[in-house]
Amino acid sequence: MPIKAIKGMNDILPEEAELWQWVESEMHRIFGLFHYREIRTPVVESLEVFARSLGSSTSIVEKEMYSFEDRQGKKIVLRPEGTASVMRAYIENHYDQQDPLARLYYHGPMYRYERPQKGRYRQFHQIGVEVIGSEAPMIDAELIHMADYFFKSLGIDDLELEINSLGCMVCRPEFTDKLIAYLTEYKADLCEDCIRRLGKNPLRILDCKQEKCQAVASEAPSIQEFLCQNCEEHFDDVLEGIGRFGSSYAVNTGIVRGLDYYQRTAFEFTTQHLGAQNAVAGGGRYDGLVRLMGGPHMPGVGFAIGVERLVSLLKEKSLTKTDQGSLVFMAAIGTAAGNKAVKLVSELRKQGIRVEMSYDGKGLKSLMKRSDRIGARYTLILGSDELDKGVLAIRDMQEQSQVELPLDDFSSVVTHIQGG
Ligand code: AMP
Repeated sequence: MPIKAIKGMNDILPEEAELWQWVESEMHRIFGLFHYREIRTPVVESLEVFARSLGSSTSIVEKEMYSFEDRQGKKIVLRPEGTASVMRAYIENHYDQQDPLARLYYHGPMYRYERPQKGRYRQFHQIGVEVIGSEAPMIDAELIHMADYFFKSLGIDDLELEINSLGCMVCRPEFTDKLIAYLTEYKADLCEDCIRRLGKNPLRILDCKQEKCQAVASEAPSIQEFLCQNCEEHFDDVLEGIGRFGSSYAVNTGIVRGLDYYQRTAFEFTTQHLGAQNAVAGGGRYDGLVRLMGGPHMPGVGFAIGVERLVSLLKEKSLTKTDQGSLVFMAAIGTAAGNKAVKLVSELRKQGIRVEMSYDGKGLKSLMKRSDRIGARYTLILGSDELDKGVLAIRDMQEQSQVELPLDDFSSVVTHIQGG
């Protein structure tokens, strides 16, 4: 029996990894334009980090955590999400003293013991952003716009931004009471999970995917009617800010997010193209979280993008990075040509040209096959004939044409390749 990968954990093979690299390079570029700075935290954390922050009744903590004991019996987990880890690092490193308004981003693998299906895995990757230190609605608007800008920079321009306010500790309890009263009336129509949620996390019922629960939820009281004046103003300002940045949105009172720590702003970017797992990104405001985790009182807001879903969208839409430059294949035949070619390809790489070279002494026919296979734009041919004549043959694989340039005129070789 061949050895297999763990269920729900995927290999990312080179063809797809190129898309991942593109996504990651755009992440650094776009987030850098807004002066957000990268933070890296360990994949493994102590159980406490998530038990305290996510809320004990959330499905992640209840049943999805990869937790185990290390050799000394300490309870540790593979991180299920990034926000709590970033908060732990922020508090532990007293980062508030270095930067009272920290704009941070991270990326990496997350682990949840969920039932694997298309778009839902046990190891998946997130790109996330956290801004700690401001309650200003324009901060919510800025990072939502930044996400929008990032998607558009990859060519994805049809995501829907759905946004809601979840209220705060002042106004949410009254809403929750009314919601529980309403849902209790229709308890018999809810799925088993939602009946359980009713006592623990009634808000989650509003975004249950089961049709019968959705029918009940559609008539439920709306949080918008219960927002206190502060929350209402905050929400209005966030919406106005998003508009001012030039992004569009739709208010959806069904957006509640799965985790206990969210307050006020909650949002998702959704797509029509990926079936049931339609959320590409989600986020919101978590003003009480830093305090809850033992830090100073610091408001915060953030989001996380699911990279697998983003990459699926890129594939679905046949979007690829376009400006990689020409790929060149160096077909050298014979030892003398091979030795000369090694120097030539080193020079080409110094000019930023991507070159693959073959070293196995095969004939021209099999080298041309290889060049075709890797999708090279140009094949450089150097055999004994070319060496005798002091030339390099350059075959344009798209045009099916060939030119010969003087072997010692390196700059015209470069110009020819870069011009194509
Ligand atoms: P969350 O941390 O649950 O708010 O998720 C944020 C984003 O991460 C979602 O919108 C998804 O795109 C992605 N995501 C969450 N869970 C998974 C999973 N199990 N597999 C793949 N992507 C996921």
